[in-house]
Amino acid sequence: MNGGRTRVAVVGAGIGGLTLGIALQRAGVTVDLYERADELREVGAAVALSANGTRELYRLGVGEALDAVSTQPTELIYRDGRTAERIAAHTGGADYRARFGAPYWGIHRVDLQQTLAAAADPAHLHLGRVVTAVSDQGDGATITFHDGSTVTADVVVGADGVHSVVRDAVCGPGNGPVYSGSSAFRGLVKRSDLPSLPDPLAIQFWAGPHAHLLHYPMGGEARGDDTVNFFAVLCGPERWSGGNVEVPDGELLAGFEGWHPAVREMLAAVPQSPRWPLLSQPPLSRWTRGRVVLIGDACHAMLPHHGQGANQSIEDAVVLADLLAATDPDTALATYPRGRRARTRAVARSAWDTGTLLHLPDDDVAGLAERDARFKSYLDANAWVHEYAAATTAEDVA
Ligand SMILES: Cc1cc2nc3c(=O)[nH]c(=O)nc-3n(C[C@H](O)[C@H](O)[C@H](O)COP(=O)(O)OP(=O)(O)OC[C@H]3O[C@@H](n4cnc5c(N)ncnc54)[C@H](O)[C@@H]3O)c2cc1C
Repeated sequence: MNGGRTRVAVVGAGIGGLTLGIALQRAGVTVDLYERADELREVGAAVALSANGTRELYRLGVGEALDAVSTQPTELIYRDGRTAERIAAHTGGADYRARFGAPYWGIHRVDLQQTLAAAADPAHLHLGRVVTAVSDQGDGATITFHDGSTVTADVVVGADGVHSVVRDAVCGPGNGPVYSGSSAFRGLVKRSDLPSLPDPLAIQFWAGPHAHLLHYPMGGEARGDDTVNFFAVLCGPERWSGGNVEVPDGELLAGFEGWHPAVREMLAAVPQSPRWPLLSQPPLSRWTRGRVVLIGDACHAMLPHHGQGANQSIEDAVVLADLLAATDPDTALATYPRGRRARTRAVARSAWDTGTLLHLPDDDVAGLAERDARFKSYLDANAWVHEYAAATTAEDVA
């Protein structure tokens, strides 16, 4: 074991950064996390975590605490967005857990982030630290902060998300994600405000021409949380520059004209959110430069239609942590992308394909038949996503 000899600095204390921090601390590696936010409070948004992610959170000892604030969807259901016909259904809950060895959770992001932060050593979590640049020094790397101060470590990890500053240091500027041609609205609704919704405890995709709705229960039934998170995707507009925008009231509902009443009821149950551009990272030619390395959205931001971005960040984090704990930094950084590139690229491609299937027009009769068949075989065909064990990957590539 390389143990405590390597000093690691992580830029970003999001899902990937915090998981990496905990994993390195558990392995006895010195690690400091630098987060630009003054407080960890991503209120209002949710995330779904599948067995490939939750298995690792159990391995790190935070599984029970997270389970207590999560809801396990009873089923995964695909429906026609206009008629509500069940196209396909797969059992969730205990069956899913038994099959894949770990649960599927719907959880508030703030609960996830705060539980992870509580498990990390607070003395090494530095909030309010905005990183402006990172440079490789050959036998280490230096972080520069907005106030001009610097920190040097043996390894610097960019876990700073989709608009990563560290990615610029690794790949050069202009290599970030691109707009996918689709955009989204999201909201949190009480189940009691959704009287028309069939199967409210399931995770459900409602598919239709040029749009889809995804929703799942979250927040931990045991503590009386009956929140449903929804994510409504519209194809278009054709071009987008910048981030989220406020759009005129009614734009979301207009995109779901003629859809089933349960869909429209959900969308109308809360004030319309800003409209989000959905971004996707073209494959990067490199994930490391000297002693600087990327994980998570910083190197492979993907469409959310597979619910895998956060799970892939968790997988990256534990594979990199296992390698840094087991070997010297140069070997670890040379080995890490070999274990992760093909996997994350396959998941990102699959998320893109899922979006295409969810948005097929009515006149694509052959396409719709194929869509229905793929939804019916979804869990078997995608078992490779859910059964993955990151610990084995680190051993295989080391
Ligand atoms: C609408 C939506 C729904 C999604 N749903 C799911 C889902 O259900 N399941 C799933 O697995 N994934 C989902 N994802 C994807 C998931 O949110 C991301 O893939 C995941 O958060 C990436 O984790 P990360 O740690 O790489 O980055 P992040 O979680 O984005 O964390 C990056 C951190 O870096 C910090 N930071 C950024 N820049 C700097 C800087 N210069 N200096 C210091 N700190 C900095 C940020 O403040 C942040 O805390 C969804 C994404 C979207 C947009």
